[in-house]
Amino acid sequence: MARRKLVYEGKAKILYEGPEPGTLVQYFKDDATAFNAEKKDVIDGKGVLNNRLSEFFMTGLQRIGIPTHFIKRLNMREQLIRQVEIIPLEVIVRNFAAGSMAKRLGMEEGTQLPRPIVEFSYKDDSLGDPLVPEEYIVALGWASQQDLDDIIAMALRVNDFMAGVMHGVGIKLIDFKIEIGRVYEGDFMRLILADEISPDSCRLWDIETNEKLDKDVFRRDLGSLSDAYTEVARRLGVLPQNNAPSGKPTLVN
Ligand code: UDP
Repeated sequence: MARRKLVYEGKAKILYEGPEPGTLVQYFKDDATAFNAEKKDVIDGKGVLNNRLSEFFMTGLQRIGIPTHFIKRLNMREQLIRQVEIIPLEVIVRNFAAGSMAKRLGMEEGTQLPRPIVEFSYKDDSLGDPLVPEEYIVALGWASQQDLDDIIAMALRVNDFMAGVMHGVGIKLIDFKIEIGRVYEGDFMRLILADEISPDSCRLWDIETNEKLDKDVFRRDLGSLSDAYTEVARRLGVLPQNNAPSGKPTLVN
């Protein structure tokens, strides 16, 4: 069988040509990077967990009417997705101050914000993904004002869904990053959710203890990243071994 054509290799994922035109296969690697790839490691099983978690969130978002690139999971590490034209922006939603916002403004991490804040960074590793005002985005032609309004509305819906799901399993959604792609259908262009949603791109704190259950565990050397991601997957009921027959009956509420 011929080898698949590699389309793009990023820090945590690889994209291969898909079986049909307009599709891609998204492969989740075990590589973890932080601080613009200055810190690197391989975390056994991270790709398997993120593949499952991203499937779980994207499927749930689709069920509430948010269009995503996700088509179906193919195996432990791969999912079939729609090919999109990625808008070169990181769309960040914050419910509590943390990370770069806390640092920039001298705020204590974990301070609740009066309302969710949506901000944009320009996706360019060589520049360190700089924060960009909406006006730059429109003036430089990366997206129209209408696109931005639609992206903000979508980001806030994703936030409500994610915050609710996380609250249900005792986790506070501090912030997260999403990416948006364009798909063309005849004369029409639609914006859809792309990339991934996983603990690599969210900040997740335990509601009771504030224990970190996301990539900050790796960024800040706070313990085992794979234990943290496994805990998130366990709480959400999406551990890969849930599919394996346990031999014991499971009670379902
Ligand atoms: N984030 C991400 N990729 C990036 C930058 C940020 O997934 O390249 C996520 C990050 O995990 C966090 C949120 O976006 O959940 C806000 O990140 P922040 O701007 O605070 O940057 P950081 O502190 O991660 O540098």
